[in-house]
Amino acid sequence: MLPDTIKNFVARLFAGGRRGPERLSVDKHGIDRRQVSRHAIKVCEVLRQHGFEAYIVGGAVRDLIVGLQPKDFDVATNATPEQVKPLFRRARIIGRRFRLVHVVFGPEIIETSTFRAASSPNGEHTDEHGRILRDNEFGTHEEDAARRDFTLNALYYDPLTEEVIDFHRGVSDLQKRVVRMIGDPVQRYREDPVRMLRAVRFASKLSATIEPGTLEPIQRLAPLIENVPASRLFDETLKLLTCGHAMDCLRMLREVGLHHDLMPLLDVVFNVPDGEEFVDLGLARTDLRVRSGKPVSPSFLFAALLWKLVYQRWQALAAEGGHPTQTLLEAADSVLDEQSRKIAIQRRFIADIREIWFMQARFERVNAKAIWRMMEQPRFRAAVDFLQLRAEAREVDSVMAQWWMDLANAEPDERVPMIEAYQASQRDRAPAVRKRRRRKPRRKPQDVAGSTTE
Ligand code: ATP
Ligand code: MG
Repeated sequence: MLPDTIKNFVARLFAGGRRGPERLSVDKHGIDRRQVSRHAIKVCEVLRQHGFEAYIVGGAVRDLIVGLQPKDFDVATNATPEQVKPLFRRARIIGRRFRLVHVVFGPEIIETSTFRAASSPNGEHTDEHGRILRDNEFGTHEEDAARRDFTLNALYYDPLTEEVIDFHRGVSDLQKRVVRMIGDPVQRYREDPVRMLRAVRFASKLSATIEPGTLEPIQRLAPLIENVPASRLFDETLKLLTCGHAMDCLRMLREVGLHHDLMPLLDVVFNVPDGEEFVDLGLARTDLRVRSGKPVSPSFLFAALLWKLVYQRWQALAAEGGHPTQTLLEAADSVLDEQSRKIAIQRRFIADIREIWFMQARFERVNAKAIWRMMEQPRFRAAVDFLQLRAEAREVDSVMAQWWMDLANAEPDERVPMIEAYQASQRDRAPAVRKRRRRKPRRKPQDVAGSTTE
């Protein structure tokens, strides 16, 4: 007879996914409890006092283990939303498809969701490609772990015991920096093709590799992205661009075959002349901001990503003799129309992106009155930042770009003299410019001589 411990060990070895979770203590996972949001701890404590299970879960646990500052803290519990809500003074149930509770502590919201089970594949809740359309069944803790995407995202931190509960050896993968799908990768990508983009995002963000079995099907299944609703694709694209490693993400998307028509933004980046350099410059700024905890504007990001395509079309239209502002608008609208068909760039962003671009045509040719009007525009600051980016890419004069930046940074009482000085300098330049323009067609001999002195 084998002793029970050995029998248990053998049973666990062959039980595959049904093996119980590992409970890892601080020395194994290294999470410093002081880095954990006290509000998230509070939510777990209150739920525990009322007899429920509750853990911090997902991205926050992953980031804490590798020493990154989590963006936000989510809690998973076996309490239903109706059971959670009355336990907190400020809490609201949100979501129609899957209801969860937002517990509000001043500016911090702790998203608290009930353990969920994965829908069965090939079931009535999937489309013809296997994409899950409904996943709103409550489940057990174990089922909740199994329906998550990658092993390193299926970790539960218990702030009371300071243990990490790990059903899928996620801590070990995280420490080895491996992004590994839970379950069968092909099936999991079919259920939700966005997971392909997520694999790339986590690999870039964590400087990890994608485990071969998780990587291999991506190129083949890439076309499934087309079935993802455009608004969802927009959300994921935005997450990708604001993860602090955006350019790495874009390059990796291309490497794994998630580009071409599927991600139209990438075509712009990699196929338009100087596209890659410009986007590289733009995203480097964004990455820096993200990594130092500053907010980034999605409109600015998309404006930067698409600019070279707009610029190319603008220049072509202008060369045909169109008015600079009019042709810029035409180019902008044609690009935005095309992009919006694939990823639904939200309307409010579209308006901002247009405004950022539109002001580019005006920076070079303005009078004092127009400067004051431009400063009143809500996107003035972003447009000036954008001008800096263009100067960095040697597309416009850097002295001019710096003048606008100084103006944007100036105190209100410093602006009047700045604009007056600018106007005076324009006046000095203006007659020469006007003379040249007017005289050329008349072909007066002295003008030809004058122009050679330039
Ligand atoms: P981030 O730091 O970017 O917020 P995150 O891992 O928290 O990363 P979220 O999109 O906030 O990502 O999702 C929270 C958790 O929900 C994930 O860690 C993962 O466990 C689970 N999850 C999110 N999206 C999916 C998905 N498409 N398929 C399966 N599980 C998912
Ligand atoms: Mg998150």
